Amino acid sequence: MRAALSTWGRLSRRDHWIVPLRDRHTARARIAASPLPAIPYGNGRSYGDEALNDGGTVWLTRGLDRFIGFDVETGLLHCEAGVTLEEIIAVALPHGWFLPVTPGTQFATLGGAVANDVHGKNHHSHGTLGEHVRALTLLRSDGSAMACGPAQNADWFRATVGGMGLTGLISDVVLQLRRVAGPWIRSTIETFGSLTGFFELSSERSDAFEYSVAWIDCMGKRDVRGVFLCGDHDDSAAPQPKAAVRSAHFLPPLRWVTPAATRAFNALYFRRSASRAGPSLQSYRSFFYPLDGVLEWNRLYGRAGFYQYQCVVPQSGQREAVAELLKAVAASGTGSFLSVLKTFGTRPALGLLSFPMPGTTLALDFANEGASTRRLFERLDAITAAAGGRLYAAKDAAMTPQLFRLGYPRLDEFTRFRDPGISSEMSRRLLGS
Ligand SMILES: Cc1cc2nc3c(=O)[nH]c(=O)nc-3n(C[C@H](O)[C@H](O)[C@H](O)COP(=O)(O)OP(=O)(O)OC[C@H]3O[C@@H](n4cnc5c(N)ncnc54)[C@H](O)[C@@H]3O)c2cc1C
Repeated sequence: MRAALSTWGRLSRRDHWIVPLRDRHTARARIAASPLPAIPYGNGRSYGDEALNDGGTVWLTRGLDRFIGFDVETGLLHCEAGVTLEEIIAVALPHGWFLPVTPGTQFATLGGAVANDVHGKNHHSHGTLGEHVRALTLLRSDGSAMACGPAQNADWFRATVGGMGLTGLISDVVLQLRRVAGPWIRSTIETFGSLTGFFELSSERSDAFEYSVAWIDCMGKRDVRGVFLCGDHDDSAAPQPKAAVRSAHFLPPLRWVTPAATRAFNALYFRRSASRAGPSLQSYRSFFYPLDGVLEWNRLYGRAGFYQYQCVVPQSGQREAVAELLKAVAASGTGSFLSVLKTFGTRPALGLLSFPMPGTTLALDFANEGASTRRLFERLDAITAAAGGRLYAAKDAAMTPQLFRLGYPRLDEFTRFRDPGISSEMSRRLLGS
């Protein structure tokens, strides 16, 4: 079946040859019979081109949606890789289990989340998702299958966790969930008025709370200001209210996120958060997935789509590098709506290409304005590279091969595990094949 496909940034929408996979048993034969090269496609929540293969084949994994086993005593879950994080929570939470690590959207598939070795607000305490994967099955484009895990084919496991789908297709995963009493998070909101304020809060709160993250407004005239959010799972098992979900689907395909709208939104968000400062009880949905409450919010950037620029800079020199990055954004005259700042923990990354490193990560969203956006990225890339940092492939659509190589020193080691029948827009841009 041919159909137009894009990802979350909506930067392109081209025809692909789509091979829907229906279950893990028949997937091997369908993969082996597909025109190659191909790339796995989960739920398209990556922002750029890593799940795209313009004009070529994608293996659509959403049909791999079966739960295979769940031990409610130990929290060990075995399911197919197209199951979404939302579906896992729906099954696990009533039994007192939750995801050990979650990104800021519950609409990612488990396979997609493993393929990017995703991190969440608890990176400093729980590392990346890959650390909690006990086993997975890797299907190669020749139709072969391999069981991998921390103790079985461990080298293949470390290449596949964070491997962007380039080592093969993950058909099923065994994941260790974590115990929780219920759906509530005891959260605390604090505001800060400078980058120094962020780093102080981050070092003071990280040991005390499982989760922490900051939203910053980098469109102010002076220093940044922001909202620091931290939290822990609460002991309350009371049911949570039904989720209120809005949609941006009905909006005409215009660009609603303009610099003026961003400035106004950021100011409003800051004032509203300041008025809510202090402790409160929040449902897991509003704590972890505030953006999922507005379906298709990515349409607010209009037809040309948008980029997310997410980098991490190492601990030494992180303050200077983040200040320089924000200065460059301010000087460009473009602003970012809801920028995220988070200090990662010091646990060594599991995957050969896992993104987190000890240091600070900054994520900024920019409307696609063509050449001027690319010029801004050149400036940001130079600062990231000089600081010894790297960009996150899950969000990327513009990184250069040079910066990729510089940021990921284990790239040559990774290349040995690539599946020759798999290739994406991103792999061709960054690796030449
Ligand atoms: C609102 C929002 C918030 C986010 N917040 C975070 C965050 O806090 N932390 C974070 O780390 N990420 C975050 N992300 C990124 C997101 O978690 C990742 O991009 C995730 O990989 C998306 O999963 P997906 O199933 O949609 O995968 P897709 O976007 O479809 O694919 C992503 C990659 O995974 C590969 N892949 C997909 N399925 C498989 C499979 N079964 N086997 C092998 N490879 C596969 C694809 O080939 C591709 O390379 C966020 C994204 C959004 C939209």
